[in-house]
Amino acid sequence: MPARAKLFPVKHVIALDVGGTGMKAALVGADGTLLHEARRATGRERGAEAVVESILGFAADLRAYGEEHFGESAVAAGVAVPGIVDAENGIAVYASNLGWRDVPMRQLLGGRLGGVPVALGHDVRTGGLAEGRIGAGRGADRFLFVPLGTGIAGAIGIAGTIEAGAHGYAGEIGHIVVRPDGPDCGCGQRGCLETLASASAVSRAWAAASGDPEADAADCAKAVESGDPAAVEVWRNAVDALAAGLVTALTLLDPRTLIIGGGLAEAGETLFTPLRAAVEERVTFQKLPHIVPAALGDTAGCLGAGLLAWDLLSTEVSA
Ligand SMILES: [Zn+2]
Repeated sequence: MPARAKLFPVKHVIALDVGGTGMKAALVGADGTLLHEARRATGRERGAEAVVESILGFAADLRAYGEEHFGESAVAAGVAVPGIVDAENGIAVYASNLGWRDVPMRQLLGGRLGGVPVALGHDVRTGGLAEGRIGAGRGADRFLFVPLGTGIAGAIGIAGTIEAGAHGYAGEIGHIVVRPDGPDCGCGQRGCLETLASASAVSRAWAAASGDPEADAADCAKAVESGDPAAVEVWRNAVDALAAGLVTALTLLDPRTLIIGGGLAEAGETLFTPLRAAVEERVTFQKLPHIVPAALGDTAGCLGAGLLAWDLLSTEVSA
């Protein structure tokens, strides 16, 4: 493959998805082809500055890889980061798991990548962009992407783009209060959706109910499938809370497609069958969206970062 690529320079962008512990990267062609994939640790145990340096070094290595194997260096880069992101100004504002504050990521990356345009995105919204455009929501003009992982977040898709809100907080469905007297949430409220229906919340509830501190949400799903009544109850509580939160969201947003991802969605129909029924039971006048599992798994953020980079080039050409 490298020999062929050297003969025919391949135009490509750098796509980088920064998670808490690991980074996923790709070189992506204009038609969305993944030309090269790589992973690397963030090195967060060495502090926020080391993480930023890891990101910059990884990006520079990807640029060099492109030059060597595809005959030219990347024409743009897209980077997805966790926490609070000021996408417009290219600043990674805050990430609790990486410890940084106000990192001018776009400027730093641009400097390291020979001045090519760089797009910065929020991890969930960037993953949502990919799910909506090339994943489970393909073709849907209005969608909502909700990953159920350590927490619960959301990405609101409107006509091929993601709505970030006036201050970059749109879509935080995990902090809709569904049980006012429920468990304390890290945000300061009580009974937020993510304290009841995230993969972590189900893991905690099932560890307590089963008496096995190591038991997690996937174990709970298996126990549900084998008919364990304690597991069925834990699962039902989570599905009820999730349906309540989702109905609030679809009442406000009227999405055509509701894409559910993250660790909990890996339970497949064990989740989706009761979830669809619970949502249907709650709606009155609202139109039911298609409720579907995410299709891109943990590559969504990286693929979305590639889309951001290509979008940036098409905007520059047309502007
Ligand atoms: Zn909360």
